Amino acid sequence: MREYGVVSPQFWIDHSLREWKVPEIKGRLKFKIPSHAALRDFVFHRDGNKCVRCGSDERLVADHKISRKNGGSHHPDNLQTLCMKCNARKVSTEDKKFPERADRG
Ligand SMILES: [Zn+2]
Repeated sequence: MREYGVVSPQFWIDHSLREWKVPEIKGRLKFKIPSHAALRDFVFHRDGNKCVRCGSDERLVADHKISRKNGGSHHPDNLQTLCMKCNARKVSTEDKKFPERADRG
């Protein structure tokens, strides 16, 4: 059985075992593009359709743990589900160290 999630830095497998190429675009994901929308859907699904920081299920966004600016990729490993509130809070504290959740993985 193949594990979903990670296979290589260039490809990833979703919860339906479909293989996708990790978008190599520089900027933000464009959710009109199926492979980009699949990424977001997968990340929401993996994280239980709720914010990984506060558990809210409202106004969710796919957030880059390591921002694109800092060289983070569009691989699902580098994406997490956040609500708008936590995302806004994170952006404002981006340069300070954000504690990693210890109960993941
Ligand atoms: Zn939140």
